[in-house]
Amino acid sequence: MFLGLDFGTSGARAMVIGADATPLFSHEVSFRSPVGSPVGSPDLTQVGWAQQWRSALHTLLEGLPVAVAQGLAAIAINGTSATVLLCNDQGQPVTEPLLYSDDRGQTMAATLAAIAPPGHRVHSSTSSLAKLLWWQAQPQWQDWRQRGSLHLLHQADWLGFLLHGQLGFTDYHNALKLGYDVETLAYPPWLLAQAALAPCLPQVVTPGQTLGVIQASVADRYHINPQTRICAGTTDSIAAFLASGARKPGQGVTSLGSTLVIKLLSRVPLEDNHWGIYSHRLGDRWLVGGASNTGGAVLQQFFGREDLTRLSAAIDPRQPSPLDYYPLLRSGERFPINDPHLPPRLSPRPGDPVAFLHGLLESMARIESQGYALLGERGADPLTQVYTAGGGAQNSTWTAIRQRLLGVPVARSPHTDAAYGTACLARSGLGSYMSSCE
Ligand code: ADP
Repeated sequence: MFLGLDFGTSGARAMVIGADATPLFSHEVSFRSPVGSPVGSPDLTQVGWAQQWRSALHTLLEGLPVAVAQGLAAIAINGTSATVLLCNDQGQPVTEPLLYSDDRGQTMAATLAAIAPPGHRVHSSTSSLAKLLWWQAQPQWQDWRQRGSLHLLHQADWLGFLLHGQLGFTDYHNALKLGYDVETLAYPPWLLAQAALAPCLPQVVTPGQTLGVIQASVADRYHINPQTRICAGTTDSIAAFLASGARKPGQGVTSLGSTLVIKLLSRVPLEDNHWGIYSHRLGDRWLVGGASNTGGAVLQQFFGREDLTRLSAAIDPRQPSPLDYYPLLRSGERFPINDPHLPPRLSPRPGDPVAFLHGLLESMARIESQGYALLGERGADPLTQVYTAGGGAQNSTWTAIRQRLLGVPVARSPHTDAAYGTACLARSGLGSYMSSCE
């Protein structure tokens, strides 16, 4: 059996699968929301996030049925991308983690401009490298350094360390926003030239690669097979992609949640900061992605869940809507149109709510289709099939509209759970997993 652990924004989830990838067991635990600050708050002083993650890890292991724990062969963990910790040489955090959305690194823009090439993804104010630079600029930095070596770890790396005990490893999915070059599989020279930072950088391995066996103390405590391998992890959104069932170049996954995010499996990597397009490496393939600000949050502004279901059922998806909207909550779009001032276009609004919803669903499908077309124009593999995840995946009317506009088969993902994708990573590793359906 194989265990995938998904550490998300509000809680953590465990999923156990069998040798044939059948889900066998799952359970989850919520993180405590600190008083007065929402879950995911980047507040440094109030919340012991590392403690919460550690105790969630132990709760999830403790909750495994004994027969499952004893039958485990491998474990992998995913965490939120660009959530980082600074640890001492014992692996203990020397300060609170900085969460994925924490943008205090925006104060490091000038430093980043001086060291990283223009247009590089690390210039984002939430990048892992911006966070490391922010730590380096703090008065305590010298004090932390004088007490021994410092290690930058991502959330998934640190939780993996608690299981295998090897300090200073990450995977090339988590390392992307640290500046790691996934094409050459090396840190770039401009980053290694930073004498104060380079010793903190973790060694990068392939996601799913075995890093060791479980520490005896952890195995004993939770009755886990002492030979259980602990594998390098991945990020939550890649884990969700791995869960989706997409394996072949040209297959895409659209996530219809609050926003609309597309990911396309390609033999060619794309990187274009203008549209926020970047590529994750998946073995010898690439996962090319873009994110639009349109999506379910706009639908929610006008319709309740039950209305969405009832009104959607009254739409004939074979008929194109004459309404041409650009549904946004507020001005500003990045992909597939890059215009920080693009206004929402939601008029004319017909009196009939069915016609209005039809216009919204059709307009979002058009944006999705433009997104895949843009990736194709930039050199990615042409789209052959789309899997769908997120709240909008359950809307069969929307699926039919999207299929008409995309011109390829559209289906709901058989699995959408990131923990499932991470369990698959523990089961097969990345390379053989990606080629398993060829
Ligand atoms: P996130 O994780 O991004 O918050 P979810 O994947 O949970 O989002 O999906 C929530 C979104 O799904 C909501 O914004 C909602 O508008 C949309 N949604 C829910 N039900 C439907 C439906 N039947 N048709 C279209 N969209 C829906």
